[in-house]
Amino acid sequence: MKTNISISALVAYLTITEECYIMNTTGNLFQTDQVFDKKAVVYREIQNDTRGYIAELLAKVINQGALDQELNAQDQERLLTLPQKFGSLEAVGNRYGSRTDNIYEGSTRDGCADDPQGNPTPNVYYKCENPKDLILHSLLDAEFWQHSFYDPMEFEWQATLFQPVGGMDMIVEGFKRTVGDLIKYESPVTKIEVNDDGVIVTFKGKRGESQIKADYCVSNIPCPILTKLQHSFQPDFAEAVENTTFSPSCKVGWQAEQRFWENDEYQIYGGISWTDSIIEQIWYPSNNFFGKKGTLTGAYIHSENAVEFGKLSPKERIAKAKEEGAKLHPEIADEKIVPSDKGISIAWQYVEHQMGAWPSWEGNQHDQKYYRRILRPDRRFFIVGDQASTLPGWQEGAMMSAEHVVKQIVNKKPADVPESVMAPNTRRVVQGIRGSY
Ligand SMILES: Cc1cc2nc3c(=O)[nH]c(=O)nc-3n(C[C@H](O)[C@H](O)[C@H](O)COP(=O)(O)OP(=O)(O)OC[C@H]3O[C@@H](n4cnc5c(N)ncnc54)[C@H](O)[C@@H]3O)c2cc1C
Repeated sequence: MKTNISISALVAYLTITEECYIMNTTGNLFQTDQVFDKKAVVYREIQNDTRGYIAELLAKVINQGALDQELNAQDQERLLTLPQKFGSLEAVGNRYGSRTDNIYEGSTRDGCADDPQGNPTPNVYYKCENPKDLILHSLLDAEFWQHSFYDPMEFEWQATLFQPVGGMDMIVEGFKRTVGDLIKYESPVTKIEVNDDGVIVTFKGKRGESQIKADYCVSNIPCPILTKLQHSFQPDFAEAVENTTFSPSCKVGWQAEQRFWENDEYQIYGGISWTDSIIEQIWYPSNNFFGKKGTLTGAYIHSENAVEFGKLSPKERIAKAKEEGAKLHPEIADEKIVPSDKGISIAWQYVEHQMGAWPSWEGNQHDQKYYRRILRPDRRFFIVGDQASTLPGWQEGAMMSAEHVVKQIVNKKPADVPESVMAPNTRRVVQGIRGSY
């Protein structure tokens, strides 16, 4: 965490216990209907075979003199040793692979080996056909890199992170334990009057309408909702709030009667499998390994896919997620293992007090104007949340934003924001996609 808020101090303050969250393992899968006979392929095979071919091509261009302009002979010789390690191209050792240096013919990194010594003791490898490697042309047809395959390499994700034991709700529970007396539930704000010396907030409580007058108001109400409330915002602020639009996103959750993904066939312990179908991904739990039952995120869907998926009825969503999920794990189709009536779906764009998942910034000039404006208060009214941060879609963004606003209020930070500040690109930080929305 790069904010001034210390994560360890926050965890201690909220008295929550953290455990490792696994984003990626080499046992995760990738599936597409385009190639590989529509079969799901293990992440490590795609990863290592791709590296192998790239390494082979690099070795070839070096040996053909194509880099003579860029590198001197000594550097070329040194560089040639890199693809051998990077792509597993060495024709030596007790391994399944090349018979010639610098030619990729599979690697034990895929989990495959024959047993040239006829060793009678079992080894850890699968016996795979020779050559086992995926064909380069198929890898190109798969376009797996367009489907989040390399997200775990981004700094924001990484293969391992942390999560609270018991689920993300434990952060909320932590706040409830420490500041719970201050929280008013079921009291939606209906009106916000901003003045030079304070803010009057009107809300609907259990006993009708009430008002609170405060010196400052710090609001995390999502902008698509905030813009619809009665308010007295300054015109440019109101315009910025109105133009902070949110992206759609959908999820499906499964309660599985068996942790089939942890069996000998899959050996998946946490992480995410990717597909180019509408469900986009399947998440495996990072806790309670080898337990009896488990929950899966059966779909986590963004952008245009989320618009389409969200239009389906809850029953249709479950059926669609089953159909697509079964391409990665046939067990998902089995009602005894993954019962439909224990599945759940949510489309954030239709959640009453949310109306979307996160701001759909494209990181362009149009957004810059509005993003810069919501980072600055309207007199005594401040916006916080991941919606007003460099990390839309992340709680860390919400915390950074809170820190930014608190510092503004106590005059430790100027209320102005430099002209050069650009809006983040949401697709980049939420989906790893570098491009416009
Ligand atoms: C699908 C999805 C997946 C995510 N995954 C991750 C993840 O893996 N990791 C991560 O770090 N972050 C994740 N996030 C982001 C995370 O949820 C947000 O960053 C965080 O919730 C933002 O906190 P917040 O307090 O700013 O806003 P919110 O949590 O959105 O809180 C806004 C609150 O305002 C309330 N509200 C709305 N209208 C009114 C009204 N009129 N009056 C009073 N209150 C109102 C709402 O009920 C809500 O409680 C995800 C978000 C989504 C949607």
